[in-house]
Amino acid sequence: MTTNCVFCKIIAGEMPSDILYQDELVTAFRDINPRAPVHILVVPNRHYDSLADMGDEDGVVLGRIVAVTNKLARDEGIAESGYRFLTNVGRHAGQVVFHVHFHLLGGRPLGPMVMTRW
Ligand code: AMP
Ligand code: ZN
Repeated sequence: MTTNCVFCKIIAGEMPSDILYQDELVTAFRDINPRAPVHILVVPNRHYDSLADMGDEDGVVLGRIVAVTNKLARDEGIAESGYRFLTNVGRHAGQVVFHVHFHLLGGRPLGPMVMTRW
């Protein structure tokens, strides 16, 4: 657990959140500021600042994150309509919370993958 990390506190049950799933490797909870009808964050229980700190040795936890995401998509009723799964790394991607997290978004058409004009 990294002190002062909001997601470490949620994982440890020290901060309230709407947890949908938790096991020994990963936790999933609803985003506090949802940008779509379904907006869930899936995170490893172990603290990594971002995806940039993960690699081959983290294959098991990354695999679990994918499996849990697909299960949540089915549970939330968006498996058929489709969904987006993304993580932001660093400044240009707009990362705000520095505990790696994967956004599961769906429940409406999500628009282009990125802004096409900049
Ligand atoms: P990112 O820009 O990828 O770092 O996204 C951080 C996300 O974390 C945002 O969508 C926030 O709404 C979300 N967030 C921040 N604090 C909390 C919290 N306490 N509980 C749930 N989601 C949070
Ligand atoms: Zn953390």
